[in-house]
Amino acid sequence: MFNNTYKLTIKGTVQGVGFRPFIYTLAKRYLLTGTVSNGSFGVEIFVNTDSLTLKQFLTAIEFELPLLASIERLDCEEIAYQAFNDFKIIETDRKGEIEVNIPPDVSICKACEKELFDPANRRYGYPFITCTHCGVRYSIIYDLPYDRVNTSMKFFEMCKACQEEYKNPLDRRYHAQPIGCWDCGASLELVGRIAPIPTIVDETVKLIKQGKILAIKGVGGYHLVCDATNKKAIQTLRERKQRPTKPFAVMVKDIDMARDLAHISPKEEEILSSKERPIVLLNSKNIDENIAPNISRIGLFLPYTPLHLLILDRLNRPLVATSANVTDEPIATNRQSIEKLSKVYDHLLDHNREIVNGCDDSVVMVVKEQEIILRRARGYAPVSIELPFNLEKKTLAVGANQKSSVAIGFDNRVILSPHIGDLDGIESIEYFKENIENLKRIYSFTPELIVHDKHPNYESSKYAKVQEIERKEVQHHYAHILGVMAEKQITQKVLGVAFDGTGYGDDGNLWGGEFMLCDYEGYECVAHLNYFKLLGGSKAIKEPKRVALSLLFDVYEDEVLSLENATTKAFTPSELKTQYLMWKKGLNAPLSSSVGRLFDAVASLTDVCQVMSFEGESGMQMEEFYDASVTTFYEFSLKDGIIDILPMIKAINEEKDSAMAISKFFNTLVEIIESLHKKYDLPLVLSGGVFQNRVLLGLVLERIPTAIIGNKIPPNDGGIALGQVVGNIR
Ligand code: ZN
Ligand code: ZN
Ligand code: FE
Repeated sequence: MFNNTYKLTIKGTVQGVGFRPFIYTLAKRYLLTGTVSNGSFGVEIFVNTDSLTLKQFLTAIEFELPLLASIERLDCEEIAYQAFNDFKIIETDRKGEIEVNIPPDVSICKACEKELFDPANRRYGYPFITCTHCGVRYSIIYDLPYDRVNTSMKFFEMCKACQEEYKNPLDRRYHAQPIGCWDCGASLELVGRIAPIPTIVDETVKLIKQGKILAIKGVGGYHLVCDATNKKAIQTLRERKQRPTKPFAVMVKDIDMARDLAHISPKEEEILSSKERPIVLLNSKNIDENIAPNISRIGLFLPYTPLHLLILDRLNRPLVATSANVTDEPIATNRQSIEKLSKVYDHLLDHNREIVNGCDDSVVMVVKEQEIILRRARGYAPVSIELPFNLEKKTLAVGANQKSSVAIGFDNRVILSPHIGDLDGIESIEYFKENIENLKRIYSFTPELIVHDKHPNYESSKYAKVQEIERKEVQHHYAHILGVMAEKQITQKVLGVAFDGTGYGDDGNLWGGEFMLCDYEGYECVAHLNYFKLLGGSKAIKEPKRVALSLLFDVYEDEVLSLENATTKAFTPSELKTQYLMWKKGLNAPLSSSVGRLFDAVASLTDVCQVMSFEGESGMQMEEFYDASVTTFYEFSLKDGIIDILPMIKAINEEKDSAMAISKFFNTLVEIIESLHKKYDLPLVLSGGVFQNRVLLGLVLERIPTAIIGNKIPPNDGGIALGQVVGNIR
């Protein structure tokens, strides 16, 4: 027998991912005696062995890690000898602060998929088949540690057969908390009809084929679905949802079907088939024009639950699948909230496994071989990010107002909530608060400091201001840059490029075209677009023509009234006069330096888009016009930190060809970034919603390959909360 005892503590994503049986199997292989257990910090192992075998054991842990597990930290120390006569998995101890990561929801694994379609398997066709290596996690968790009693599976009593699998350390379903089968697990309901599950699936497929719109409950919420090859069904969905042009995501049966609809690079294929199964934005081909009007990109994703697989297998057609939510409300997660949409869907396919934590589908794109997350949710959230330093205080960051996401920070870690949505309605604000409470409860976290945006009217700022704890504000664009710095563990000074929609600036103006020297101590704004007026205030954000008109006034003053171009034509003569007076007097015309709004202006001047029906539409449409063979750009000047864009506006107004104007506009932005990069010679960090533009981001990364963009947080306001957490260390 060995007479050395070692204690191993492992932190990271090590619970609910088959970690203990994995250790058990390894211990048996190396003939070790001892114990393994879950704790609030992660996993604890005691083994009797010699130092050589210990080394092999540790190497095996590292190299054979279960699919869903990841190790953040492994500590190993020799302790006083303890006698063990075999190796055991022992009960969870629940003390102290919770430091373990919650595993995100992942897609069904290959082994379960095989069983799902195997007539000899006892779970053949069972829509909730799962094992230790796959399926729901975060969406069903009330509390940590991740045990069945702390999930919404506690309402289902395991049958004998399931119990045996659950208790056997050598079974693939050992401690698989969502385990269930035909006899004991969750079940389906096609509301209004009584039928056995296989019939329900067939019936669902039949209804979709008939052109009906269905609401289907998934992992973190409901989808609205219809046949993606049925023009009329798509049109009906658009009309009922009052969503005239915003692109729909499409679920496809497999990679082959995805290839029929889009061009897919190896990297994109890898992400499409990953266990996270996000929606991937791809270059489309052969799709119904109604799915993404005027846009040559399509968001595709593969089935990620057994239920989706069963439906797509029988349907054998692409399926429009869009998140079900009432306008300004979060994704529907229960019967009550989905029924508010009963006029949108014809039938409801429900199930009885409760969604505890709502979670949308994630959306990503690939630019220059980098994965860029646009919506960080299912599969990617919650995420734990390690900081390059320790936080002084337990910090809660409440994010911005659009694409909200919140974060908690302690020690050297930040946990980011999934995408919450825009805080525009009472329901969304409630959902935002719920997300904060969920993180606090799951992590037994009590904040000592709350950090929020400087914008006084953000709902998140209002929430922060009524909390009775220490409070700090972090400027919006500084937070954008800090988020990337934190994700990439950058500790030196950087030149941050914050190209954004709008965010509240230190001078009260709406920033969004800022170059800032940043470190964790603070920042200095070294250049920005010259301010222009947003005519009509918040109306200007939806109406590109207002921003363009304002810039035209800046260039031509009252001559604009007799100017004939795409922008002026979008107004009546009397509207032009009123707008001119508003511009002159600066009435309801806040100042802005936003590149997002500059995009809008160019979209209007080139007649690509005058009024938007969804956020980001103008930029998406402009991508379509970019011509890579154009290498010229417009003049701009940089003087005393002001980037003068008026010469460019004048030139665009005189340009005959829209594609030429738009291409040169993109090139000009790259030139501006490069000239500042050369001037400061610091690491270049890109952030802000404008970098969701694939063309612009691609051009910048091509010109400056060392430029840094976030890969775990989105460039949009979904990344703000992370930046806010680290903005408090000064
Ligand atoms: Zn599985
Ligand atoms: Zn069972
Ligand atoms: Fe922003």
